[in-house]
Amino acid sequence: MNRLRFWNERAETLSRDELAAVQLEGLKWTVKHAWANNEFYRVRLTEAGFEPGDIRSLDDIADLPFLTKDDFRDQYPLGMLCMPRAAVREMHMSSGSTGTPVVMAYTEADLTQWAECMARCQVMAGLQPGDALQIMPTFGLFNGGFGFYHGARRAGLFAVPASSGNTARQVMLLRDFKVKAIGSVVSYAARIIEMLDEKGLELPDLKIGIFGAESFSDEMRSRVESRLGIRAFDIYGMTETGGVGTTGMDCEARCGIHVWQDQYLTEIVDPVTGAPLPDGAVGEVIFTSLTREAIPVIRYRTRDLTRIVSRERCACGRTSLRIDRIEGRCDDMLIVKGVNFFPKQVEQALMEIPGVLQEYQIILEDDHGVTDVRVNVEALEGVTGYMVEKHLKERLGFSPKGDIFKPGTLPRSEGKAKRVFRVNKT
Ligand SMILES: [Zn+2]
Repeated sequence: MNRLRFWNERAETLSRDELAAVQLEGLKWTVKHAWANNEFYRVRLTEAGFEPGDIRSLDDIADLPFLTKDDFRDQYPLGMLCMPRAAVREMHMSSGSTGTPVVMAYTEADLTQWAECMARCQVMAGLQPGDALQIMPTFGLFNGGFGFYHGARRAGLFAVPASSGNTARQVMLLRDFKVKAIGSVVSYAARIIEMLDEKGLELPDLKIGIFGAESFSDEMRSRVESRLGIRAFDIYGMTETGGVGTTGMDCEARCGIHVWQDQYLTEIVDPVTGAPLPDGAVGEVIFTSLTREAIPVIRYRTRDLTRIVSRERCACGRTSLRIDRIEGRCDDMLIVKGVNFFPKQVEQALMEIPGVLQEYQIILEDDHGVTDVRVNVEALEGVTGYMVEKHLKERLGFSPKGDIFKPGTLPRSEGKAKRVFRVNKT
């Protein structure tokens, strides 16, 4: 059998004209569908002076109102459902750790759409039918485990649904079943590395890592790649767009994340004013689903910051537009002594220091309105707090206090890693 380069060559290599036609049809359908079948959407669109027939070109999208995470929360549990309840086949939900959870519901067609997006990602990462994929996100309300699973079924993979935790057993499965790829959060790959180092083991069959849910630095990526002997890919997607992989992944060429453009329309806007930004400018990425039935999204504000890298055909042959890997979330930007930065930049700077390990914490100490930053990081003997402080000062432009911890002493998480902690000293 020939090696697959694309899961869906036709859809992944549409010309720009063909894409525009598919998108316009999808946009018209989505607006009409939401208007006809959901009270929340009908009121929202009407208030914006909109009627379904008003969509005549793709540019008309700029007149549609935005949708926010708060809208999802206000409509909990199923206020945004655009299909009869009996048509729902599955649901997923965000953790709700910062408030009311966000719910996504799926019809049979939505599950197929999700599986299709994931299968494209898995083949883009180099997986071929029959290859084993170990799925390490939780199987449950969080979308990660099932997302990888639905995709694996569609792409004809050998799914190993390990779910999260029990690192010793994860390593046993990886070895015994000659697993070729893992789907995980990048911080869990660091757990696997620790276990391998501790036991003196290698994973000769493992070639691919598909990492999502956390933004990670290039330096973290190259560390994980060199220790595990894999190629690492950055997969993108969120509960609101339908889960992991729905909005794309980066390819072998590493020049941005390919958004599945026949499935989602992409805009970049100013995060404060909401005004559209030109290609290349960094802003908040907005997605509109084009085929989703149960809960379509119209101009969903992700709060994720990125830019459009290119609309030209990529070296990999795909024609979909590429956005940069996510810099951070609007809400995660830290401002200390007048300097703005994202946790990912701290990670990048830390990983550049030889002897510094992959576990770190950023502690923001608020003392009577003045914020100080402390960075706790695990490192090998010989690395000092001064070395860390000096390098962070050079790379970020401010001086946090650097505290060195022995390997294995900072707390570990088995899901998405918590890196930033706020402490009030007053
Ligand atoms: Zn590409």
